[in-house]
Amino acid sequence: LGVAASTRKLAASIGIAFVDDASTTVADALACADDACYAAKAAGRNRFAVFSAAAEAGLGGLNAARVAADTVDAMEDGRLKLFGQEIHLLGKPWLESRHVEVLARLAARNGRLVPPGEFIPVAERFGIASRLDRWIIRTALSRHGAALRSGALTLGFNLSAQTLSDPQLWDFVDNVIEETGAPHSGIGFEITETAAVTNFDAAEQFVRKARERRCRVSLDDFGAGMSSFEYLRRFPVDTIKIDGSFIEHITQSRFDREIVLAITSIARSLGCDVVGEKIEQQDTLAMLSDMGVAFGQGFLLHRPEPLERIVARATKGATARKAS
Ligand code: C2E
Ligand code: CA
Ligand code: CA
Repeated sequence: LGVAASTRKLAASIGIAFVDDASTTVADALACADDACYAAKAAGRNRFAVFSAAAEAGLGGLNAARVAADTVDAMEDGRLKLFGQEIHLLGKPWLESRHVEVLARLAARNGRLVPPGEFIPVAERFGIASRLDRWIIRTALSRHGAALRSGALTLGFNLSAQTLSDPQLWDFVDNVIEETGAPHSGIGFEITETAAVTNFDAAEQFVRKARERRCRVSLDDFGAGMSSFEYLRRFPVDTIKIDGSFIEHITQSRFDREIVLAITSIARSLGCDVVGEKIEQQDTLAMLSDMGVAFGQGFLLHRPEPLERIVARATKGATARKAS
C-alpha cells in the first residue's frame, strides 16, 4: 500500500440525545439523535449537537435543521440551481437591456423545485446564508464568465444581511472576478432595505467598495420595510427596485400610484434607475411607463427560468447584433 500517495481528512457530524425518561422508546431516542445530527450538519459539520426539545419547538426545529442540512448538501451535489429573471427596459425587447436577476432554487430529493422563500430564511437562521450567496456568485461567474466578458448580459445577485456584513466579502468577490475574468461592469448586487437597515455601516462600506470597482448596486424591495430616504443619501445606489406590493394593485390604488411617483421622482433627481417589480398585467406596465418608471420585471415580461437558457439566448442575440 502506498502510504505517501495521499492523505484524506475525515470529519464527522454527531448528534447526541440524552435518555433520562424511562418511557422513551429506542425509536424516539434515535429520532432525537438524528435531529441533533441534522442540526450539527446544518451548523457547518465536523461538530456535535445535543438534541434540545426547546430549540426544536422555538426554531421550527427538526424541519428547519433538515432544510439547512439539505441546503449544504445541495451546494455539494449539484442540487442548488441557478435561475434568472429578465429585467426589461419597459416597452423594449429584453435584448436592449440584457439585465438578469439571478434567483436560487433548490431541487429537493423528491424532485420538487423549492423556492428560495423556503430555504433562504432557514439558511440565515443557521448562519449559512453567506456561504450560499458565495456559492451562487462563484458558480454563476465561473459558468458564464465568457458571456459576461462579451457583454451579452449583466447579472444581479441577491445578498442576504449576513453576506452584506461579511468583512471578507469583497476579497472573495475580487478573487472570483480575477479567476473568471468577468468584468465589474457586468455584475450587480441587490441589497434589501431590511438588510441595509440592520447593517447600516456595513451597507455603506459595501456600496462604497462596489462603486470603487464600478459594480452596480440596487436597493431591493424599496418601500416594503422601514423606508427611509436617508439611505439614499448615506449610500448612493445605482438602482431602486420598487417593492412589488406597491406595483401589483397600482391600477386600482391611488395611494400606491402616489408612492411610486414619489420614489420615481426622488430617484430621478438622484440619477438612479428605477425598476418596478411584479408586473403581471399589461395595464400595470402601461401605467408604470407613463409614470416614468424605465425598467420592469414580472411574470408578464418573463418568468424565471434556468440561467443557462437565458445566457444562451443573450449570446445568440449578441452574435446576431454583431453580424448585422
Ligand atoms: P426578490 O429579490 O424580491 O426577487 C423577486 C421575486 O419575485 C422572485 O421570487 C421572483 O420569482 C418573484 N417574481 C418576479 N416577478 C413576479 C410576478 O410578476 N409575480 C409574482 N408573484 N412574483 C414575481 P423567488 O425567486 O421565489 O425569490 C424570492 C426571494 O428570495 C427573492 O426576492 C430574494 O430576496 C431571495 N433570493 C433569491 N435568490 C437568492 C440568493 O441567491 N441569495 C439570497 N440571499 N436571496 C435570494
Ligand atoms: Ca432581488
Ligand atoms: Ca425585490
